[in-house]
Amino acid sequence: MTDFLEIPSLLSRGVYLQLVVEMKLLDDAIIRSNEPEEVLTHHYKSLGNRFIIPWRKVKGKLRRLVLEKQRSFDIQPDCALKDDLCLNCPSCLLFGGTGETSSAKMQYNILSRVLGETFISNDKVEEVQNYTQNAVDEKDLMTHQALMTILTVPKETIFTGTITIKDPTEEMASIIIDNLKRLTRIGARSVEWGKVETTIIGGKLSDREDMSAYHLLQNPPQGTQPDDLTGILNNLPDVQAAYTTINTQLPELFGELIKRRSSKKGKQSKTK
Ligand SMILES: [Zn+2]
Repeated sequence: MTDFLEIPSLLSRGVYLQLVVEMKLLDDAIIRSNEPEEVLTHHYKSLGNRFIIPWRKVKGKLRRLVLEKQRSFDIQPDCALKDDLCLNCPSCLLFGGTGETSSAKMQYNILSRVLGETFISNDKVEEVQNYTQNAVDEKDLMTHQALMTILTVPKETIFTGTITIKDPTEEMASIIIDNLKRLTRIGARSVEWGKVETTIIGGKLSDREDMSAYHLLQNPPQGTQPDDLTGILNNLPDVQAAYTTINTQLPELFGELIKRRSSKKGKQSKTK
């Protein structure tokens, strides 16, 4: 049976903790957009018209929360999004980063161990309250050429998505699950989402990723169905202990990475 890893591993061990997550809007969400990538409905052949939330929006918010909580425990409190990732903390281990572009100038990159997908509304969108108007510049209130779309997503709309933690230790799972429950707003510059309620309804610890909202929302649902994870989730370490444990595991993990890199470089220069 597939089990959690004892300690974080640099190389993948092919273990996947899939979480099936429901996100319910507690308020109407109003989306104003003049960027095509912000369009938040999609027509699926087999599901019809649905509201969608792009994964990067969920991931961005989740990463922010993981980092916030980490700072509250005073672990790598200077690690910050954009260009100030430290590449040496639990949050960077989970979400990844690029060494060269970070101000820490580390000689390595970390791949994200938190993988997701587009969240899809459980119900079809019967009528999209969607209208297009000329975008108004806030500074001069002049109407310009750009067209703006305003879309209302009604309250109590429920979205389903799956979030996968790749090669999880119990500590990594504890951090993601604790912060998922703290995910009470999704937002961006151009999106006024109200409050949301995030619930983990099940999942699977497995050697493969075999669940997706797309399959689960088919009628009847297709593919692997989620297990009740209550037993597993209730036995995870406390979240503060989880951050602390990972933080103490990192020097050895990344030390090994730096050693590997430099021995590779050494070999290359010898062959020249
Ligand atoms: Zn960091």
